[in-house]
Amino acid sequence: MALRTIRLQGDPVLNKVCRQIPEMTSRIRTLAEDMLETMYEANGVGLAAPQVGILKRLVVIDAGDGPYIMVNPEIIETSGEQTGDEGCLSVPGKAGEVTRPNYVKAKYYDLDMNECEVTGEELLARAICHEVEHLDGHLYVEKVKGGLHDVVNEDE
Ligand code: ZN
Repeated sequence: MALRTIRLQGDPVLNKVCRQIPEMTSRIRTLAEDMLETMYEANGVGLAAPQVGILKRLVVIDAGDGPYIMVNPEIIETSGEQTGDEGCLSVPGKAGEVTRPNYVKAKYYDLDMNECEVTGEELLARAICHEVEHLDGHLYVEKVKGGLHDVVNEDE
C-alpha cells in the first residue's frame, strides 16, 4: 500500500464527473487500499477517488464501524435531517455547517463486484452523501451555511 497525494480545493480534478467502474482490476484494488491508507493517515472519515486524482466512482469511508469500500455507490433512499459541522480532506483546516439527511440507504459494489447495501445514520449518512457528491464533482463547501471556520487540530 502507498499513500497518495490528496488534491486540494481549486484543483480542477475535484470538479469533474467520475466514470463508473465496469469491472474489478488489480489497479482498482490497489487504488482502494491506497485510499484507505491515505484516509487513515489524514484522520479522515471518507475519501473519494477524485481526491487522489482518479476520476472513477470509488469511495472509502470509516465512520467508526468501517471500513467501507464502495464501488459505483448510489444513494437510493434518504430520510430525516441533521445539521452539523462538516469538513473535507481537500479543504484542510476548515469546517462549515451543512444540513444532510439523517438516514441514508446506498447500494454499491464491493471489491469482488458483489452488489451490497449499506444503511447509515448520523456521521455515516453524512459521509456517504459527502463522498458520493465528490464523484459528481461537488464539494461540501457549496452547501455550507454561514461560511467556513478554522478547525483546531488536536494532534498539534
Ligand atoms: Zn470531501
